[in-house]
Amino acid sequence: MEPAEAEAGGGIAAARSSPAAVQATNDDAAASKLSCVTKGYMKDDYVHHFVRRTTKRAPIINRGYYARWSVLRKLMLQFLNAGSGSDDQKRKQILSLGAGFDTTFFQLQDEGLAPYLYVELDFQEVTSKKAAIINHYNDMKEKLGPDASISIEKGEVTSTNYKLFSADIRDIPKLDAVIRMAEMDPSLPTFIIAECVLIYLDPTSTDAIVSWASEKFSSAIFFLYEQIHPDDAFGEQMIRNLERAVARDMLKIYNDFIDSGERRRIERLELFDEFEEWHMMQEHYCVAYGINDAEGIFDDFGFKE
Ligand code: SAH
Repeated sequence: MEPAEAEAGGGIAAARSSPAAVQATNDDAAASKLSCVTKGYMKDDYVHHFVRRTTKRAPIINRGYYARWSVLRKLMLQFLNAGSGSDDQKRKQILSLGAGFDTTFFQLQDEGLAPYLYVELDFQEVTSKKAAIINHYNDMKEKLGPDASISIEKGEVTSTNYKLFSADIRDIPKLDAVIRMAEMDPSLPTFIIAECVLIYLDPTSTDAIVSWASEKFSSAIFFLYEQIHPDDAFGEQMIRNLERAVARDMLKIYNDFIDSGERRRIERLELFDEFEEWHMMQEHYCVAYGINDAEGIFDDFGFKE
């Protein structure tokens, strides 16, 4: 979450205690992504369906969102390519926790890169809105294929390759139920995304979710992108958890991991002189991932030194 988002959502503290405020951060994320798309930072042909009024964000916010989008994209593509040299290319799954209005599935589908199964979870208020929008716009609906069924009331979309369900992700038995309903196969390679969502949960819930994922999926990558607040209880707990995973701050990721050609391209898009602020801001965001590699297909996955 970037500062503008925190304001729109009433701040992280407010958001943690109020579902409506948490969901507002999702509206804000979509608006910020659209701002980036409009400026040419990245391509997303669907996010505009989720934003009522186009707003322009400051260059530093656009660059932050670009970096966030870019690192997730790069690691996700590494996952999707993993094991592709072997004879039996495995079917792959993606599970997005607190997916909000993310449109990655539809974009991947356009690019011919979508995995066998893409499952998204969020609160019902959010999934109902998302289901309504998917139902309304043909360019989205047609990506689901002829077997799709959409329930706006339940906030559910089920199709062969894409599924959207409502769930409070703190409810672990519900997660198990959803996995069954979505017909996910826990033995298939799975990429689990927690992008700007764990920060709204208490540390015990986060622990339970991470443990659940690691016990459930034997061949999986758990990806998280979060703001780091080292001084609060959540931050302390997260940092303890991160010690068991590969973690990097976004400044390092932006400088060393995002493709240099892409970086040069986006740095020419807007005048930018807030370097000090940029450094400070990016140091307070991180990406971490944990890997279960029962099949030995993730040797080439991750940040390279
Ligand atoms: N991951 C998306 C959305 C981030 S906003 C993105 O990066 O664009 C955070 C989202 O997490 C919101 O849509 C909010 O409704 C959802 N969320 C927060 N707590 C949740 C919970 N306990 N269960 C399910 N979804 C939750």
